[in-house]
Amino acid sequence: MDLAAPPSLLPDALRLRRHLHIGGEWTSPAGTDVIDVENPSTGELIGQVPAGTAADVDAAVAAARAAFPGWAAAAPAERSAHLDRLHTALATRADDLARTIAVELGAPLKLATRVQVALPLIVLRDHVALAARPPVEETIGNSLVVREPIGVVGAITPWNYPLHQVMAKVAPALAAGCTVVLKPSELTPLTAYLLFDAVTEAGLPPGVLNLVPGTGAAVGEALAGHPDVDLVSFTGSTATGTRIMRLAADRIARVALELGGKSANVILPDADLPTAVKVGVGNALMNSGQTCTAWTRMLVHRDRYAEALDLVATAVAGYRVGDPFDSATRLGPLVSAAQATRVRGHVERALADGARLVAGGPGAPVPARGHFVAPTVFADVHPDSALAQEEVFGPVLAVLPFDDTDEAVAIANNSRYGLAGAVWSTDTEAALAVARRLRTGAVDINGASFNPLAPFGGYKQSGLGRELGVHGLAEFCELKAIQR
Ligand code: NAD
Repeated sequence: MDLAAPPSLLPDALRLRRHLHIGGEWTSPAGTDVIDVENPSTGELIGQVPAGTAADVDAAVAAARAAFPGWAAAAPAERSAHLDRLHTALATRADDLARTIAVELGAPLKLATRVQVALPLIVLRDHVALAARPPVEETIGNSLVVREPIGVVGAITPWNYPLHQVMAKVAPALAAGCTVVLKPSELTPLTAYLLFDAVTEAGLPPGVLNLVPGTGAAVGEALAGHPDVDLVSFTGSTATGTRIMRLAADRIARVALELGGKSANVILPDADLPTAVKVGVGNALMNSGQTCTAWTRMLVHRDRYAEALDLVATAVAGYRVGDPFDSATRLGPLVSAAQATRVRGHVERALADGARLVAGGPGAPVPARGHFVAPTVFADVHPDSALAQEEVFGPVLAVLPFDDTDEAVAIANNSRYGLAGAVWSTDTEAALAVARRLRTGAVDINGASFNPLAPFGGYKQSGLGRELGVHGLAEFCELKAIQR
């Protein structure tokens, strides 16, 4: 196979993978089909992995099932020590991971290093500590209430944060005493292979963590519908989440769903507008807008609307689009041609719906090769229009005016999603009052930083359940009441 990216960027050993990881070994797949991995910055082929099948899922689930009793019974300190070794093995691969994510996703190398790789390492480090704690037990009247690991977890993950989305499932599942079969996104599987290189080095017990790459139609469906999978933990689109629930329903399997979003950034009239706009634009455009929590609707009081639009246009003009390996680049490509086409369709639709183009748009210059879309901002977006309602998952921001706080809250909550949001005000009590009224799983006040120990997840069609921290760990446990 002729690989396009120079070996200095990504050595062949990292990107030509022929095996699955089942029962603690690199094993051959049942079939012969492969999945090509593309560099979205150039459209060139940069790697290949096996296209797993239902037979591979059967083998991986059997291995996870066989490993479950031993792993579930292991002492917390032992599980914690395994996670600690995995952390060490993964941390030594941080540079390779960042480069791989920059190549297969197109994330600028700085973002790949500081967020895409650094965050999951923090999450894993947190779970070294969480795993070491004895399981929470409580006494309620004559009952001893204990938590036990759910069993075999099928983890299905997306491409936008290819290591973090995996770690947000694998770390708590293993910490809780569950065993796992992972199906990473077919668009970014190489990152998962690097994780399993670390798993091999760390010497996790055989079968505790297994890898079956492949498509959603083949491997994802087989895993979600597998009779011996106790919990399907899924991150991805709401449409696929619906399908996963259906597949799990026949056997009443547990599901944990982290789905889409259309988050509102509510900027109250007394806010520090330059900061609110700068941080808001950065949030909406991060990772080329391919972030489920992205604040894609900026809500600004009408008195400051014109001022805000000027600030937005200036901020967006500072975003250089291009090669993820160029240190001046702030926006890489979208992950695939299909995603870029979908995003351009949203832009065309917004224009047709009468939104006012403030920055970017179809004519804005982008590199000729690769799946680039210019950062684009629309003003005067109607709260019921497609742009204000649909998840675009690209670098497209809608700016909407409001006249009073009640209207701002109503617009923010006018969404079938409820994942995240933001409020800005110099009066933090007023901001907190608005935060409490937003029907979302998270709200950041005045650009407060992400907390990887806080529960992460959505209201409404943004999902079911929570990830991260003690609440995330609880998702991988059953409750048992023992009366005495
Ligand atoms: P997607 O739903 O297309 O795919 C996600 C995963 O599901 C992939 O591994 C895919 O192969 C698999 N899949 C697809 N069809 C399947 C099926 N029928 N059965 C089982 N598995 C199947 O989503 P995507 O395009 O990879 O990711 C983008 C979406 O993910 C966006 O909507 C985004 O908002 C969402 N997302 C949500 C969060 C969150 O935490 N809430 C985080 C990241 C991404």
